[in-house]
Amino acid sequence: MNGNGNGLRGFAPNDLWRALPPLRRKATALLLLGVLVLAAGCQPQAVDAPPAPLNASVAKWFDNHAAAISITNDDWPIPGREPDIDSYVMERGLVMGYEIVTGNSFSGERIFSGPDDERIAYLMSELVPNGFSYYGHGHNHVDHDELSYEEALESFQACYDTMKDWGMKPVAYAYPRSAGHEEETQRALEAAGFLSGRINIRDSGGFLNRLLARNAGKFYNIPGSQLAPDNWFGLRAVEMQSIEFEGCDRCINDNDELTPILDEALERTAWVILSYHSIGQRENWGWYDWDEFRKDVQSIAARDFWTAPMNDITLYVRERENAVITLDLVEGGAGTESIEVTLSDGLDNVRFDQPLTILFDQPTDWVGRPFTVSQDGELLDELVFDTEAVALSLEPNERPYLLRPRHSGSAAIHREQDYLAGGKPSVRQDD
Ligand SMILES: [Zn+2]
Repeated sequence: MNGNGNGLRGFAPNDLWRALPPLRRKATALLLLGVLVLAAGCQPQAVDAPPAPLNASVAKWFDNHAAAISITNDDWPIPGREPDIDSYVMERGLVMGYEIVTGNSFSGERIFSGPDDERIAYLMSELVPNGFSYYGHGHNHVDHDELSYEEALESFQACYDTMKDWGMKPVAYAYPRSAGHEEETQRALEAAGFLSGRINIRDSGGFLNRLLARNAGKFYNIPGSQLAPDNWFGLRAVEMQSIEFEGCDRCINDNDELTPILDEALERTAWVILSYHSIGQRENWGWYDWDEFRKDVQSIAARDFWTAPMNDITLYVRERENAVITLDLVEGGAGTESIEVTLSDGLDNVRFDQPLTILFDQPTDWVGRPFTVSQDGELLDELVFDTEAVALSLEPNERPYLLRPRHSGSAAIHREQDYLAGGKPSVRQDD
């Protein structure tokens, strides 16, 4: 659920909408979702008045933010580590995801932080409840492009299964060793059950090339009106690395280089993934400066980003591209008495449980009045919007949500009491 919304405008499933046969409805919805057309409806009393159009759409990003960003850290979280990256990110209201190697912790001569009970417990019971997340990052930290399809699949599957054993929900994957470029590797990742995979992208180096790369959209997923990324298993991630580590000019080295990318992402309403290593750990591979990281966090917090794990954004986008909204207005003598909202995506509700933000215009006489949101007779939230435009975040679970304003009259109060007692209110007067 979320608070005050601000409005984009969309399409209008309504009474006319519901009169369409189901298949037609769905087809129309997909069409409408794509092109954001307005459709007018027939309200029961609208015999001589023109039908009032009602706009509804799914926001591109959760909570109607302008763009989306995932901050990822290639390591296991380590309790008590200095600097305390987790607290710093959390205190600024943001979240971060860890790329975890589920099996052995060696790759050539490099030694990685491996899984142990303390790290798993810290991740799952202290970070995850605060919105932090995790990604598969190899059962072993190897280049999967060098493996056969079968070997890669086996490795991805082992990572997936181990995550499940630890009580994690595998969704997004971060290919180790900056690999994952081969189509065969990407197919193996999909076959193992992951829903997305990110690849580290470096820019072309040098100021001019950097500018060109930025303008060419190298770093941006799902820009503009796109409903899905070009390649779910080749998501673009920005490789963050201090120039002092090994002089990587093609990496994004500091906050001065990052901020134009953030602004470009907002401009393109895109999803940016930042891939950090060894934040504030100058003795470790690929390190990034702690002061610069803090500036990055502040730059992100100051902008209109949905900062979320790759997992959540993957689910949101996959739900959104399949979403069909049905709004059913129940009109009575006193105007619109309730709105039934059904949000369907046809996906498994256990796995695809990320709420979608829907945008719609509430009836003018609802503006500034609190309304309740319930499902199956259970009160979920009470909200008030001072504008016609409403942004409401709901799980797409194919079951109707009931929206009802609070009334000041005695009869209406009676109805509200009925409702709060848990019974599904009987509000339909015209069925
Ligand atoms: Zn790694």
